[in-house]
Amino acid sequence: MDFNLLQNQIFIQLLLGFVSVIFAELVRDVYHIAGHYWKPLQSSHTLHHKAYRRDLTIVSLEAYQKAQWNNDVPESLMMVGATAVVAGLSQNYGMWLGCLYSMGFLIPAIARSQGLLLQTDLTHKPGDLVEIPSQWTVNRTYHWRHHFDQGNAYFCGHFTLVDKLLGTSLSLKGKVVAITGASGTFGQALIEELCLQGAKVVALTSNNDAEFQPGIEILHWHLGAETELTTRLKNVDILIINHGVNVYVDRSPESIQKSYEVNTFSALKLAELFLETVTQSSHKAIKELWINTSEAEVSPAFSPLYELSKRTLGDLITLRRLDAPCVIRKLILGPFKSQLNPYGVMDARWLSWAVVALAKRDFRDIIVSINPITYIAFPIKEFFQSLYFRLCTSGKGT
Ligand SMILES: [Zn+2]
Ligand SMILES: [Zn+2]
Repeated sequence: MDFNLLQNQIFIQLLLGFVSVIFAELVRDVYHIAGHYWKPLQSSHTLHHKAYRRDLTIVSLEAYQKAQWNNDVPESLMMVGATAVVAGLSQNYGMWLGCLYSMGFLIPAIARSQGLLLQTDLTHKPGDLVEIPSQWTVNRTYHWRHHFDQGNAYFCGHFTLVDKLLGTSLSLKGKVVAITGASGTFGQALIEELCLQGAKVVALTSNNDAEFQPGIEILHWHLGAETELTTRLKNVDILIINHGVNVYVDRSPESIQKSYEVNTFSALKLAELFLETVTQSSHKAIKELWINTSEAEVSPAFSPLYELSKRTLGDLITLRRLDAPCVIRKLILGPFKSQLNPYGVMDARWLSWAVVALAKRDFRDIIVSINPITYIAFPIKEFFQSLYFRLCTSGKGT
């Protein structure tokens, strides 16, 4: 009986210890945000931003030490202080773990301010970016974006929770975003939403009569001429592949051909062309590919050829994601009201708002549907499909 009680106590204290570590990280992120928005802290935080070059090498040891002393030391001191106060008030020894954890940042920060232990500055290690931005914890590439993509986003120091809550896990401000299927109902709505976020939009359309709001760059292309877009794609930050065709009940050989040609192979060709443009270190941080594979990946669309061709695309993207040189997001969208589908339930403007809101929270699979099964079936399908592909295939040089 006593043993059980002891076991429960240890479990509770461990849990509280974990909570206190999360709390310490929240303090760090709030302090960081204050460094951007609260005048008394701004000048010392600016020292941190000025201490690094684009390849994360330090400007000078003197500037680095000064930034450590004025920014990193007080930041971790705040973490130590806040966690100590909470631990003291709660009178649970498990809560002291957060304080101990924070000390693990304070001591190296003091050492770095004296020019020692520089290698402990993990998110600022100099050199090329080698990974894509991580999703739940902050890696170098994630943090690089805070310094050189958008200072008023990507605030998190270790866990990405606060950025997800604030919608600052992805900044679209100033990004060049190209979108195919631009003249469709969803394409037009998404363009409007992207412009509201400060993106520079390039509308890729095969419709010569399509009209767009002022300020949008229009680029005409047609099926089979994907390679003609290569030069323009080099200077595109985010490519959204959104074009598609729905032959509905038609099951003629021509419709089979057309469905796969448009929905699968044209989309895949463009995706590959774009991925080939990820050539520089910064591209790993900034470039992204979004693909609208639709809810048809897991749910019926009452159009078998649409489902088949979209599922094939979806599976191939799952396969390509294993070696992705940049972030690839899938848009898993339910039916929305449009000229092609007057019975669609969702409104395209609301849908595009939701897609952007989820992208800004770094959802890699953006599911927006009224069908509850999709929210369960898609992640399960994606997980096992990806695992199967990982186990049964090998990439370049592996
Ligand atoms: Zn900052
Ligand atoms: Zn930094």
